[in-house]
Amino acid sequence: MRVAWTAGDGLRHLAFRLDAEDGITGPCTDGQPLKMATNSCRVELPYEPGETHPDLLALTAWTVVAPWTRRRVVFDRPVSPEFAAAIEEGWGIEAGPVGGSPRSGRGLAISYSGGADSAAVAAMLPDVPFVHFQRVPHPRVPNRWAHYRSDTLARLVGRTGRESVTVRSDLEFVLAEPRPGYPEHHAVAAGSLLLADELDLGGIAFGYELGSRWLGGGRYLHRYTPDNPMWAPHGAWGRAFAAAGVRIVLPVGGVSEAVTMRLALGSPLREHVRWCLRGTGGPCGTCGKCLYKELIQAAIERRPLRTSITADRGVARKWQRPPPYGGQEMIEYGCARVPGIEDTAFAKAAAFLGATEESTAWLDRCYPPAVEEVPAPWRERVRAFMAAEVGFMSEDEARRVETWGTVRGPS
Ligand SMILES: [Zn+2]
Repeated sequence: MRVAWTAGDGLRHLAFRLDAEDGITGPCTDGQPLKMATNSCRVELPYEPGETHPDLLALTAWTVVAPWTRRRVVFDRPVSPEFAAAIEEGWGIEAGPVGGSPRSGRGLAISYSGGADSAAVAAMLPDVPFVHFQRVPHPRVPNRWAHYRSDTLARLVGRTGRESVTVRSDLEFVLAEPRPGYPEHHAVAAGSLLLADELDLGGIAFGYELGSRWLGGGRYLHRYTPDNPMWAPHGAWGRAFAAAGVRIVLPVGGVSEAVTMRLALGSPLREHVRWCLRGTGGPCGTCGKCLYKELIQAAIERRPLRTSITADRGVARKWQRPPPYGGQEMIEYGCARVPGIEDTAFAKAAAFLGATEESTAWLDRCYPPAVEEVPAPWRERVRAFMAAEVGFMSEDEARRVETWGTVRGPS
């Protein structure tokens, strides 16, 4: 794989060329096979930041091309020996050319999506600026996803009153299948990485919560993942980011989506939180994500589900089948707490799971090892916030995290 950046006037253009052994279908770090649609993309920065450390350019490119790289990656300028070593150790991919010295930085920015998880991070760190990634169309790929209203979200971010920059990019359209999206989850940080020198960043805070970090969230299913290759500090991506002088920081990595939802809805950002990008005047209320988030919100507000989605609808189909489910911990949490769950699309799931408030109480508290892995400059702030606002899991509760997916709970 050969990658080359061209730059000018705040615009960064990335082109990549496959070597003979590379393929246009390849797995991203979570195992999902991805098919490439095209071999170029751009990132529009809000201003021209000037020189960018080669390791930042290389890492940004790597978040786009890693799935399709088989043996080696050749960047267009030398990367530090430390960064090359991180790629080789993490992926078994030869990286070069090698030269120069590593970078470092001190500050923190929040990779802010506008969803409840990143709003919870924002509530925890009220003085930390946002970098928001906005999807824009790709000139060479037809946009069959026009219902995805990234403009709505960017407008909401602008209204939060927080110091923020919005970075616009078409990089999600390098993916043909399964759909446009980040080639690697870390590509959402493209703007933060390209501005990291200008903003003096030593870390980027993401809204990945307990499920994503420790319970095999996302496309992983129902298992304890201490060595999560995407988000553990000692995983391949954690080491690559650290080598480029930007640590991955997960301030809410120890708490469930019930806690991030509670923190987000209790914060000044409440009016600006949006997890569904289908509606223009608010969440659409008819998609699977709206149904899932409504279950969590109804649970923390201790009220019946407000939805028109019934069990016979396509988006509710998976809840008619037996577990395991993706995000199962939150399904258990919701089913145990929402009054009248037996009259909703979750009735069958609730019966299968048999969860109770007691068996899901651990999801209201913070998993202590998640705080220990926050990089030192920000750790005590996160610890103090969790102690004051959330509380920590007991040893028994922490064991629920560490046996997730291996033993059945007491329910
Ligand atoms: Zn929706």
